[in-house]
Amino acid sequence: MSEPLKVGATIGILGGGQLGRMLSVAASRLGLKTAIYEPGGDCPASHVANYHFQKPYDDHDALRAFAQSVDVVTYEFENIPTEALDVIEKITPIHPNRRALATAQDRLVEKQFLQDQGLRVAPFAPVNDAASMASAIARVGTPSILKTTRLGYDGKGQARLKTPEDTDAALAAMNGAPAVLEGFVEFQREISVIAARNPDGAISCYDPGENVHKDGILSTTTVPAQLTPAQRTDAVLLAAKILNALDYVGVMGVELFVTPQGLIINEIAPRVHNSGHWTQNGCTVDQFEQHIRAIAGWPLGDGTRHSNVTMENLIGDDMAQVSALAKAGHAIHLYGKAEIKAGRKMGHVNKVTGSAG
Ligand code: AMP
Repeated sequence: MSEPLKVGATIGILGGGQLGRMLSVAASRLGLKTAIYEPGGDCPASHVANYHFQKPYDDHDALRAFAQSVDVVTYEFENIPTEALDVIEKITPIHPNRRALATAQDRLVEKQFLQDQGLRVAPFAPVNDAASMASAIARVGTPSILKTTRLGYDGKGQARLKTPEDTDAALAAMNGAPAVLEGFVEFQREISVIAARNPDGAISCYDPGENVHKDGILSTTTVPAQLTPAQRTDAVLLAAKILNALDYVGVMGVELFVTPQGLIINEIAPRVHNSGHWTQNGCTVDQFEQHIRAIAGWPLGDGTRHSNVTMENLIGDDMAQVSALAKAGHAIHLYGKAEIKAGRKMGHVNKVTGSAG
């Protein structure tokens, strides 16, 4: 991008979920408009964005009209068909770039890319059928996790293998989809780094957060994470290395396992990330504003953590506790989803637990 976006410009966002909603609010605070592209109606972002293109992702005429009506395009989830980006890219710049999306969309491509950067991932092998499963088990062993290479999220499209006897059931759970077998990492804790890079190559990383998952879904993120100074530095440096390698523009979430042997990368998400929601109440400039600044070609904001925070996701029936959670030091963020469903992320609470340092 050559010129920074001017106030009053419009940002196009592919996807209309809660991340699109919070990006739209941040853009609005900066005097920018947003247009979301989302096939569903009454979605979280549609309540706050200026425009809503309610069209499917394979409607190329609608994608062209969307691209023509905005100044830059970004996305809030990674399962967008890359063909949609091909259509848009001819008209309007897209950040993060196509390579970042294509890398993060496919677990095999992603792991290979990370290894090529000299970074550590769990041992892995591709699985397409019974024969490749047998050689993957021989290479990776058990315990391990079989994951579909594409379209998995929040622990969906995954099967755990305790022993080689679990092979058939795990393979059946993939429903014939290409998969990757990953060695099970005996981690001490899970952390993530939310990192931002702008078109000038400036990078700002937030303090790593410590994540706890329940049933494969993020439950809480706490800052500061329990890390040694060396682990904290390693985490931030490896995130910066990934952003530079992809010539990345925007915010990325990098999920890591902390082990006694060092940090192992679980996955990268080329977008703002649930484990970065604490920044809304822990930093002067949160991940949503930071993403908008980056893709607008503006200088990045100060991501220094000023407060200790525990972010708690409100999932499904947790919504019943909302009024009880409305304590003085708790910032409540709800996504405006009409229907409560088990496993659905309805909102989150940032519990500010004190000043940093
Ligand atoms: P994912 O969808 O790949 O992020 O996986 C969801 C969660 O499952 C992770 O945050 C971990 O808690 C757990 N998990 C995934 N892969 C592994 C692994 N290779 N070893 C241990 N735990 C894992």
